[in-house]
Amino acid sequence: MSDPFKNAKQQLYNVAKVLDLNDQELEYLSEPKKFIVVSIPLKMDDGSTKMFSGFRSQFNDDRGPFKGGIRYHQNVSIPEVKALSMWMTWKCAIADIPFGGGKGGIIVNPEELSQGELERLSRGYIRAIYKDIGIDVDVPAPDVNTDGQIMAWMVDEYNTLVGRQELGVITGKPVDFGGSLGRTEATGRGGVYILEQLAKKKGMKPKDTSIAVQGFGNVGYYFALIAEELGFKVVAVSDSKGGIYKESGLNIEKVMSHKNAGGSVKDFEGAKNIEGDKILELVVDILAPAALENAINEKNVEDVKAKYIIEMANGPITPEAEEVLNENGVLVVPDVLANSGGVTVSYFEWVQNREGYYWQEDEVNEKLQKKIVDAFNQSFDEMERLKINFRAAVYALAIKKVLDSARAKGVV
Ligand code: NAD
Repeated sequence: MSDPFKNAKQQLYNVAKVLDLNDQELEYLSEPKKFIVVSIPLKMDDGSTKMFSGFRSQFNDDRGPFKGGIRYHQNVSIPEVKALSMWMTWKCAIADIPFGGGKGGIIVNPEELSQGELERLSRGYIRAIYKDIGIDVDVPAPDVNTDGQIMAWMVDEYNTLVGRQELGVITGKPVDFGGSLGRTEATGRGGVYILEQLAKKKGMKPKDTSIAVQGFGNVGYYFALIAEELGFKVVAVSDSKGGIYKESGLNIEKVMSHKNAGGSVKDFEGAKNIEGDKILELVVDILAPAALENAINEKNVEDVKAKYIIEMANGPITPEAEEVLNENGVLVVPDVLANSGGVTVSYFEWVQNREGYYWQEDEVNEKLQKKIVDAFNQSFDEMERLKINFRAAVYALAIKKVLDSARAKGVV
């Protein structure tokens, strides 16, 4: 596996040329401001104590408090956490929300823990890092294998330690404990707002625009569902067990009921089964990878036939594969923009917590639409102005925003 932090830095160096950055600026943007390593003792159900390693990378806070999720996975590593925190910096900047970038993680396979152990580990992580986070310092959120319940335990632990109610210290909480309406759907919904803009720019009518969505979890399901609601033709979806295809378009809610009953989208009535990865090779207008990283790589990139790719997952295209897509004239809407709806509504949650006043779901969606459509249009214009690819345009805009804040403060 390639080193994700090296890849993230390489993306920065590529854009540095476009932006004409000097060495000091580049050096300033290349490493986290602070990287925290902690050891968390966990009292297991059998009475023994096990140690777990946890991290928090505080990459950049020039535009506002560090912001980024906490991942629980056995493969969490220092380079991965650093890379993710760098990407969060660009994501918050392009989404134009007043946050910097951060990321955290614990090396753990949560499936091997009981609920009680998971709660004690989550509270232990907060006890280890609580002096370094805060509503105006660093605002964590869920990521792979962490959810609203885990965020609720963490906020409760933090509040106990600091002796006050500070709900906005962590986002992605359950609605009953300071969460925002619309957060669950936000990443998929944001992607569909981008889809609509792309279709407008390219003169595509929704009813004639075919879409394939790889991954049918939180992001893929809501992306497919909301796209269908707006009249797009979602012809294929897949999950880890396989995929389905129907030329006239799928009924996404029915596909979800079918998956809930049988554990997979496979064998849906009226649709053809397809092997999981073959979904990436279908003749469709738009492909939305919404599962895992590196889905489109050197091995399958030549078989991709879609004209447009909306990266709903983080890092679904390898850098080598992207070069081929660029040569083949495929337009890729990069992850830091395409899936920024999630962090945007996390920001709205933080605002609502600070105000102590909660918005209706329509208001959340309307504000999300405005932010993400503005970001898309600015990036599109930058791409045309500089005659570079979409990812480079998004990075150029985002990095410039971060540097402008640093320059205003006289840091660089
Ligand atoms: P999830 O766990 O809810 O869903 C993942 C889905 O991918 C599942 O349906 C799984 O079956 C499917 N999958 C796994 N391997 C597959 C394969 N080989 N082929 C087809 N499908 C496969 O996760 P999620 O929250 O939907 O996240 C998906 C991606 O979006 C991740 O890269 C995540 O980092 C990114 N993302 C999520 C959010 C969010 O708000 N949830 C925000 C930004 C980015």
